[in-house]
Formats: sequence, structure tokens, C-alpha cells
Amino acid sequence: MILDRKRIVILGAGYGGLRALKKLQKMKPDAELFLIDKNDYHCETTSLHEVAAGTADAEEICYSLNLVIDRKRTTFIQDTVMRVDRKFKRVILKEHEPIAYDYLLISLGFEPEYFGIAGMDHYGLSISDIPSVTRIRAHIEGEFKKWTNDHRPEHLIIAVGGAGFTSFEFLGELTHRIPKLIERYQVDRQLVRVICIEPTSDALPMFNRHLAEYGAHKLSDRGVAFVIGRVSGIDGEQIYYKADNQEHTLRAGTFIWTGGVSGSSVVIESGFDQRRGRVMVTDDLSVADDATILIIGDCSAVIDPESGRPYPTTAQIAMQQADCAAYNLNAMLDGRPTKPFVFKFMGTVCSLGRDDAVGEIMGRDLKGRPASIMKKVIENRSLAKIGGVETMIKKGRFSLSK
Ligand SMILES: Cc1cc2nc3c(=O)[nH]c(=O)nc-3n(C[C@H](O)[C@H](O)[C@H](O)COP(=O)(O)OP(=O)(O)OC[C@H]3O[C@@H](n4cnc5c(N)ncnc54)[C@H](O)[C@@H]3O)c2cc1C
Repeated sequence: MILDRKRIVILGAGYGGLRALKKLQKMKPDAELFLIDKNDYHCETTSLHEVAAGTADAEEICYSLNLVIDRKRTTFIQDTVMRVDRKFKRVILKEHEPIAYDYLLISLGFEPEYFGIAGMDHYGLSISDIPSVTRIRAHIEGEFKKWTNDHRPEHLIIAVGGAGFTSFEFLGELTHRIPKLIERYQVDRQLVRVICIEPTSDALPMFNRHLAEYGAHKLSDRGVAFVIGRVSGIDGEQIYYKADNQEHTLRAGTFIWTGGVSGSSVVIESGFDQRRGRVMVTDDLSVADDATILIIGDCSAVIDPESGRPYPTTAQIAMQQADCAAYNLNAMLDGRPTKPFVFKFMGTVCSLGRDDAVGEIMGRDLKGRPASIMKKVIENRSLAKIGGVETMIKKGRFSLSK
């Protein structure tokens, strides 16, 4: 007799989704496992800024899903998720027929958030996935090339909106890439300008002021100019921002927006009770009105009991949630009680490019080379935890100068 097996469908093969799949495959639940992602590779999203700046190639930060998927247990569908049809418990895909689920794990990550700033969705570049960072890299290089034809100064001006984590990591890499572009296109160094526009003087808000200032000084020393202003619009010609109650404009060939992210628009399209694509999940990571749907990673919000505010969205929390979600899905199948998710903060390190970084690990401030070494340790650990030791050996960061 063929038993009617339950089906667990995982949406997204990022830090949360792929880690949860790996855990579930090990638990060998009596259920069909489905993984759906628009790509057939996993991307180390935390390294996207390197591809954007041109200091790493896309292949260096991606690996095939085949390294994790156990085909005997898991069916992989490469397609774009359009929405979740909660009424009929199925996932609507762009190319394939709808996929029914008994249990659903949503881990579709983030999208850039433009806060309605005029022209941003059209003219702003964002660091969000492989196509977007490949575009940034080509765009910056294209502007240097254009300069060799017409010598218009704006081609050599790169502006970045936002001075948070992603902005600093990108700027750190860019300051190492620019000398190479200067050499290749025979440009006078003085003509290249990198400008970071941020509404407040509080750069890197997740760190204490001592570390944040260290980061800002390091970038300033390498030629980044910081402007306090609020970006209000962008068109094909210039960026508009307000500073000191006055409107300003800046002509820049490249504008990269790092000012905010939201959870996946699939969450919004699917009618969940959400804010900026993030759903406030219950203790066991399920949705308040449907215990068969769990949401983790950047699409979820979990309140930090200390601050009373949601924890910042990070790969770190997504991976820890994945372990808890895999346990809970397995428990639900067996009719056992689920367990609450408890976040254990392990620290944060922000790269400033190559062998420089700032961070806080177990309550200790780190900066410079020690912080950079710790960053590589964290990256390698995440590669091993999801892709396995072989992937870590192939794709890991072992050089101190890169
Ligand atoms: C430049 C940068 C640096 C960062 N540095 C750090 C850091 O140092 N430490 C840290 O902890 N966090 C860092 N983060 C944040 C971290 O990358 C995210 O919090 C993390 O990726 C979230 O994991 P996730 O599983 O929710 O989503 P992701 O890892 O983003 O995975 C989402 C998956 O869903 C797939 N997907 C999305 N939409 C669809 C769709 N409609 N259909 C099908 N598939 C879809 C994507 O292809 C992807 O595989 C950084 C982020 C950036 C951009």
C-alpha cells in the first residue's frame, strides 16, 4: 500500500532555507521535502558587496545547490515564487504548476527598500543578488570607459546612499578596486570621487561610536567623503538631497542605494500580516493564524526582549532560526510539541576591505587585522555549516590579503 506522505515545502535556498533543508535531510522525517529557488546555486549574500566593487567574481561567492540537496529525499524546483495561496495550501510559481504543501517554510530573503524616493527603483543600483551586483560592477567600469571618450567629470563620481553595514563593506572594497581602475583607464586620481550620503552623523549604527568612528576614519583616509544629507530623488542626470534645510544636487555617474531593505514582496503578495515584508512570527517561528507556515530570515521579525525591538536581520539569525524551524517541522510531523526560538548573539564584524574590519565579538571590540581574521572565520564557518567542509575548503577565505 502506498502511504500518503506529508509534504514540507521550503521557499528560498539562502542562509535560512538551505540550512533548514540540510538539517531536515539529516533528521530523515517521514515526509516529502521540496526546495524551491529561482537559482540553482546558493549565494553567500554576505559577500555580495565584493562582486559589486569588483574585488571578487560571482563564482567565488556561489556554489551549486547539488552540494547540499539529497536527491533521494528532496525535490528541487528552479522557479520564481509568485505568491502563497494560503486558502488552498499551495505555492504559485512563475513557470511551473502550483505546488501543494502540508507545511511551508518561507525563507525568501530581502529586497531593496526605496521608501518611495523618487526615481530610486529606476536609477538607483542596489546590492541584493548576483545580477544586481554584476550590474554595479559593469556600470562602474562602464563609467570609467565613458570618461576616456568624453572626459565628463560625473563619470568618475560614485555616490552611495546610506552609511550602514552594507555601505561600509562596499566602500571598503571599492577603495581597493579604484586604484586598479585608475591604472587601467589612465585616470588622474584627483578626478575620482566617492561620496557617501547619510541623513545623520551616526554611521554604522549597530556598533558603539568608537568602532563606528574607526570605520569612518579608515574610509575617509582612503578617499571617501561623507556628506550629511537625506536623499530625496534621483533621475538620469543627478541625485537630489536635502542638507541644512536646503536642496542640493549631485551629478554622479553611479548611485548605489544601501539605505534599507524589506522582506520579500512574496510575503506582501500572499496577504500575510506584515510590515515592510516582515512577519512578526510566534515563539516557534510559525505564523500567528496558521501553525503550518513558518517564516525565518529576513522575511521574519523576532522581538529582542532586551530592546523591545525586532532583532536586525542577519545571516546569523537566519541560520539559527533554520535549526529551530527544522526541529519544529519535524516535531509537528510527529505530533510532538515545538520549541521556542531563542537567539544567541555571537557578535558582528563589518569588513572595511581586504585586511581591515571592525567588530564586536562576545562583548569585545575588535578592529583592524584581528577583526578581519575573525570575519574570515565567520564566513568559513557559515560555508561549512551549510555547504559542508568540502565547500568551505573550495570557497573559503584563507588569505589574509583578500
Ligand atoms: C552586502 C551584505 C553584507 C552582509 N553582511 C552580513 C554579515 O556580515 N553578517 C550577517 O549575519 N548578515 C549579513 N548580511 C545580511 C544577510 O545577508 C541576510 O540577513 C541573509 O542573507 C538573510 O538570509 P535569508 O535566508 O533570509 O535570505 P537569503 O540568504 O537572502 O536567501 C533568499 C533566497 O531566496 C531566493 N529567492 C528570493 N526571492 C525568490 C522568489 N521570488 N522565488 C524564488 N526564489 C527566491 C534567493 O535566490 C535566495 O536563494 C549582509 C547582507 C548584505 C547585502
